[in-house]
Amino acid sequence: MNCHRSLALLTVVMLTACARQTPEQQIVHDAAAALGGVERLQAVSTVVIEGEGTQYNLGQDVVPNASGQMFAMTEYKRAIDVAGERARTELVRVPKFTYWQGLAAQRQIQGIDKAIGYNVAPSGTASRIGQAAADDRRAELLRYPITAVRAALDPAARLTNLRVEDGQSLVEVLTSDGRAFTLAVDEATKLPTRVATAANHVNLGDVVVSTAFAEYQNVDGVQLPARLTTRTDDFTTGEVRVTRQAVDTDTGDLAAPAAAASAAVPAPQPPTVTVEEVSRGVWLLAGGSHHSALIEFADHLLLIDAPQNDARALAVIAKARELRPGKPVTHVVNSHHHFDHSGGIRAAVAEGLTVITHQGNAAFIEDIVKRPHTRVPDALAKNPKPLKIETVSDEKVITDGTMTVHLYPAPGEHSETMLMAYLPRERALVVIDLYEPGEGVHMFAARFLEDLEKRNLRVDRIVPLHGKIVPYAQLVKDATAAPAS
Ligand SMILES: [Zn+2]
Ligand SMILES: [Zn+2]
Repeated sequence: MNCHRSLALLTVVMLTACARQTPEQQIVHDAAAALGGVERLQAVSTVVIEGEGTQYNLGQDVVPNASGQMFAMTEYKRAIDVAGERARTELVRVPKFTYWQGLAAQRQIQGIDKAIGYNVAPSGTASRIGQAAADDRRAELLRYPITAVRAALDPAARLTNLRVEDGQSLVEVLTSDGRAFTLAVDEATKLPTRVATAANHVNLGDVVVSTAFAEYQNVDGVQLPARLTTRTDDFTTGEVRVTRQAVDTDTGDLAAPAAAASAAVPAPQPPTVTVEEVSRGVWLLAGGSHHSALIEFADHLLLIDAPQNDARALAVIAKARELRPGKPVTHVVNSHHHFDHSGGIRAAVAEGLTVITHQGNAAFIEDIVKRPHTRVPDALAKNPKPLKIETVSDEKVITDGTMTVHLYPAPGEHSETMLMAYLPRERALVVIDLYEPGEGVHMFAARFLEDLEKRNLRVDRIVPLHGKIVPYAQLVKDATAAPAS
């Protein structure tokens, strides 16, 4: 064989190889080349990212869809063991708004070791997290250029659905172990611009969580982004601004701490609902972190708050029916839009309850009820019902002669779309989040008391939906001791 002929043969082989590459594979290989080449990429063992950033308060801001509340993130450090599928993030976050837990800095350590998710408390105690949260962290491992492109380069990965949107080529990737993500690559630079994964969110149902990459810089022959922005659907949840990063550096031990690795996956416990009679026809349904109040009218029952999730809300509704069999639970007052207090609204709708909420939450509740929950079908997805909603913009009096409830808007730093309930005959005030008797920090108590005094309500007892029932005097005491907000 002469030299000329072998060169021709080689060309044929190369052409065949190229012809076999699908357009999706081409995009992935272009991305790998732009990041530093397939070989360099495959050789990366670890990445350590340090910097600062911002976290936003999805579902907990002052009004639905607001994004003004933020935590400044400092001492951010994320260490990734690329091949080992392990990562650990350490950070300090400082609330830059009137946060109910107070304004002190909070140190967090969160890790993932393949399927095991864990947190390490400031005391050093490690605990395993639930499987859904661990799965989300495992998905987060893929929302990074190096890990995503490496996963897509795996010959066992399935690449489909190439399309172009806004100057980016998008490819769907299904890894050999069944994890799916969307890889977006800049048409001009061929660098990954975004990785998106689908997830279930208790409140929002089917969501897309994405991390966008910008400001690439060369680190030891690998292009790494210096700015990472994470979103849940269109809501920005966090930004990281990298100040220093390194590849193939010592990460320390990223294995899950023994206490977490040997622990069973915490499974959701069936909710406990306790019953405490406040007065005739008024009960506090507690037993967990988030309570509800139940109020009896002549021919129906009204619930205040369907918090947390399906399980809690359904258990509370079942307890109400058990307390007064034959009297339908017809209404639920949604105290405010915060995810932890509206997480059971879909279940309440599925049970046929009419939702009463502040006018400023109407669009939010309508959206929540409409959203698809196909990944993890919830009570409403399994039993669809139309939303019945009544809104409150000023004081609303609900009475049938036997029972009277006043609903007041109680706007403030915690939520602008908050309702509180006053029972004039019982001289009881049902309050949510503005005052939590028993907590060490009362960020909103002083303002709450001030607003209350302006209203000239005669209140003997505070019935809080966190904490224990206390006399009015306790509020006065705690409000006086509360830090100025
Ligand atoms: Zn709240
Ligand atoms: Zn709360």
